[in-house]
Amino acid sequence: MPKETTLSWTYSPAPESKDQTFLKERYDLFINGKFTKPESKKYFHSFNPADETPLAQVARASEKDVDAAVKSAASAYNKVWSKLEGKERGKYLFRIARMIQERAKELAVLESMDSGKPIRESRDFDVPAAANHFFYYAGWADKLEYAFPNRKVESLGVVGQIIPWNFPLLMAAWKIAPALATGNTVVLKPAESTSLSALKLAEIIKDCDLPPGVVNIITGFGDTGEYLVKHPLVKKIAFTGSTEIGKHIQKLCAGTDKKLSLELGGKAAHIILEDASINEAIEGIINGIFFNQGEVCCAGSRLLVQENKAEEVITKLKARIEKLIVGDPLDKNTDIGAINSKMQFDKIQNYIGIAKQEGLEVHQSSCTLPAKGFYVRPTLLLNAAQTNRVVQEEIFGPVLTLQTFRSIEEAIELANNIPYGLSAGIWSSKGSRIFNLSSKLKAGVIWANSYNKFDPSSPFGGYKESGFGREGGLHGLRSYVNLK
Ligand code: NAP
Ligand code: MG
Repeated sequence: MPKETTLSWTYSPAPESKDQTFLKERYDLFINGKFTKPESKKYFHSFNPADETPLAQVARASEKDVDAAVKSAASAYNKVWSKLEGKERGKYLFRIARMIQERAKELAVLESMDSGKPIRESRDFDVPAAANHFFYYAGWADKLEYAFPNRKVESLGVVGQIIPWNFPLLMAAWKIAPALATGNTVVLKPAESTSLSALKLAEIIKDCDLPPGVVNIITGFGDTGEYLVKHPLVKKIAFTGSTEIGKHIQKLCAGTDKKLSLELGGKAAHIILEDASINEAIEGIINGIFFNQGEVCCAGSRLLVQENKAEEVITKLKARIEKLIVGDPLDKNTDIGAINSKMQFDKIQNYIGIAKQEGLEVHQSSCTLPAKGFYVRPTLLLNAAQTNRVVQEEIFGPVLTLQTFRSIEEAIELANNIPYGLSAGIWSSKGSRIFNLSSKLKAGVIWANSYNKFDPSSPFGGYKESGFGREGGLHGLRSYVNLK
């Protein structure tokens, strides 16, 4: 039966098959090349946010488990990895990249089941981008002297890496690939609600015969992450997550010799100038905030429109969101999948409530939502002002605020006047205006007449409360080496 929808046409369901995605009932910690039971004997469930069913049990690493993982990484660093030539390290990375490609479908389905993101995204973006990061950094492994000419490049040792739930496999690849390419060994902690793809990556790493201990994957909650941050043998912490936890980690690292890079929250502005191609801009804005349910640090969550175009933009946006399909993440037609957890779902609903209290006009599409699971309709918050909480604070959901401006100076002020500085989007047909604006926006990544374009060779990172350090590209190597 075709799906019931408010659209003027209907799509028959087109669910991706789960046949190739084998899930164990229980996943142990990946330490020293082996799946190891946690010393704590404790496990927790990972859920599918699309229907709230448990998918598998995952081990909860205690302080002793973290210690074992760090020691295995230290031993692998001293005995094997630090002695291996760059071209040999590169071969392992190429192998991991190819194996991710071979198991792409399985990984994509698993990622959608565990995180709630639409299969179209995990299949077309997350998994290929994860493989591409390994390919890209494999290429640097034997060329570090060209990356840093006239300098002696030294690896750091054991690096601790902590990642969030919004791009679980891709974040693991962003972190692991440059660390291994530069000769470090790794202990990685995925987010508690999305550990499964990192554990599949552990299987791949095992199948690639990476020397035991070079990559260790420890699952657990915040306390597991904190044990890793505090461990004295860890030389660097790479953290992606919320600004709140990032600040806490910064305090924990203060006074130690640990290096630190923080990729934190964002509240990106899209700026539509009057000379922009409005239809193109609408597509970019839809992609920028509703892609991955808006659970993206660089999501274009604030829209600034030149006043004389506001009416047209609002009319077109309302029409466009009405056509977005919200529902089963495994359905190939789905545009907006499930929100990753009940906690995140409640947070988004709370912000929509705050917007109502602040007197904003709340416009949502009229689609029907599945009875079970955590779904939010695409939401526009109109008549927003700079002082509104929904403009200043990161919502991390499919919610877009809209403000208008008259002059370019006003647009710059509105865009910059927030605590974050991760990304921004400019929509204009005039190159000179794009250059002028992009030189004045305080954002680490600025897209022009496009949005959410990623490439392993491009650096990514923020200003202000969005953190420091860059990942991706040549810049992404820098925080994993000492230069002499
Ligand atoms: P989060 O709560 O800060 O968690 C991130 C990671 O840190 C998780 O693995 C978490 O474990 C762990 N953690 C929690 N408490 C910790 C502690 N005291 N010590 C060490 N580790 C700890 O963030 P999230 O809610 O998962 O992710 C959403 C946030 O990430 C958003 O703010 C988003 O903007 C940001 N983000 C930024 C980027 C970027 O590149 N700038 C990319 C993606 C996401 P548990 O999961 O078990 O709590
Ligand atoms: Mg899950």
